[in-house]
Parts: sequence; structure tokens; C-alpha cells
Amino acid sequence: MNPAVTILLAQALLLGAPCASSQASKSSLPGGAAPGASPAVRVSVADSCASLDVRGEVAAAEDIVAAFARQEGWDPALARGTFDAVEVFDTQDALWRRVLSLNSLPQDTPLPTSGLVAGIEKRVFVVVCPAEYLRLNPEYARRTESWRRLLAHEIAHRLHVNTLAGNDDAMGPVWFFEGFAVLAAGQNLDEGLAYPDVKEALAATKEKGPLAYRRFVAAVRLLAARHPLKELVAKANEAGFEEWLQAPGR
Ligand SMILES: [Zn+2]
Repeated sequence: MNPAVTILLAQALLLGAPCASSQASKSSLPGGAAPGASPAVRVSVADSCASLDVRGEVAAAEDIVAAFARQEGWDPALARGTFDAVEVFDTQDALWRRVLSLNSLPQDTPLPTSGLVAGIEKRVFVVVCPAEYLRLNPEYARRTESWRRLLAHEIAHRLHVNTLAGNDDAMGPVWFFEGFAVLAAGQNLDEGLAYPDVKEALAATKEKGPLAYRRFVAAVRLLAARHPLKELVAKANEAGFEEWLQAPGR
């Protein structure tokens, strides 16, 4: 297994994270390929959600992340063309078997996280049908536009990597890059949760238990209100990032 995949899957297991492995694919190229809605993107959809407008949802998700990129001062093209195919599965098990085959791993490799619902692996966008998302993750999936926002979350990880010139080892701590993706996707998982200061926000990112992404995005949202997100992204992988965030005057 590619070390990045191993590490991310292990982290996902600990955190109950919904992503396959945010850093697994090193193949995103800024603006390199056609937009998600393009006929050039191959789409395959399981029978149980065949009525979904997958191309439309993917296009809307790309638009969400491109608008976020523009708002934060990045080239919106960095959010586009980050995959060549979209595959929608009716079960988590089918999705996991596809993730394993894309990464040339044995098919009997155990699922690392019960919350796995989507990912972009080797430029293939894999995701479960909305009904399976709801079954696996009702707290997040019952929200308005949750499936579209889930797609946007995965695209947001590729945007993040593209802002780092493709270096997916520079995304910073898990809480930071997952909070970034939730924020960029407009998933609003932190509704009703706001921390009074940076110290509490960072402490909350270390808490164990369900709904970790809710705490992660609340922390990132607080930090993004105090610093340009570009600055946070640039510093997130530096040693002492969290100390810098808590330094007097910040
Ligand atoms: Zn994620």
C-alpha cells in the first residue's frame, strides 16, 4: 500500500472519517482535464440510484468549490478537472472493493472506517448512492443538498492539493484539511457550534468520538475569520503551526 494511503486510512479509522483517503491520489493536475460535467468524464451509476443526475450534481459540486476558491483568492480552475471518471455505488462494500482495485490492494483488505462514503482515487471519483450515504452517516446526510456537498468535499481536497502545487504531503494535520474541505464544500456541519477562542478550538480537534468533522470545521472557520485561508494553508504543514495559531496577538 502506498504509505500515504496507509496513513490516511489509519487516521480515517481513528476519526470515523467519511473520506476514502484524502491524500491518496497524487495525480490531480491544476486545470489539466475537462470539467466534471464534460462528456469526457466517464460516469457509471449503480441501478439503485440510476435516476440521479450525476453529471448535473458533479457540475454543481465543482461550481461550489470553484466559487470558494475564487472567494479565497485562488484560481478557480484549481477546483476543476480533478478526475476523469465518476462511479456511483449502491453499497459501501462495492465502493471499498473498487478503492482496493484502484490501489492494487488485495480484495480482502478490511474496511478501515465504518464511515467511508467517497473519495477521489487515481483520478476516479468513487461515491455511494444517496440512500447508502444516509444509511451510513445520517447526521450529515440528512442535510439539504448533502450528496452534492459530499461531492464538493472530495473536490475540495483536490483543490487544496492543487494550491500546494500537487504536494499532498503538505496539507497539514487531519483536522485542518478535513475542516478545510467541509468549509469549502459548504457542508455547514458546525451549525450551532462556535468556539470562543483558538485554544478551545484546537483542544476540540483532539477530542475523540463521533461528529469529528463538525469540530474540525468549527475550528477552521474560527481560524479563517482571523487569518486569510491562504496563509493558513501555507503554514499548516510547518512544525509549530498550532503554537503559531495560539501565539499572543493572533
Ligand atoms: Zn475529507
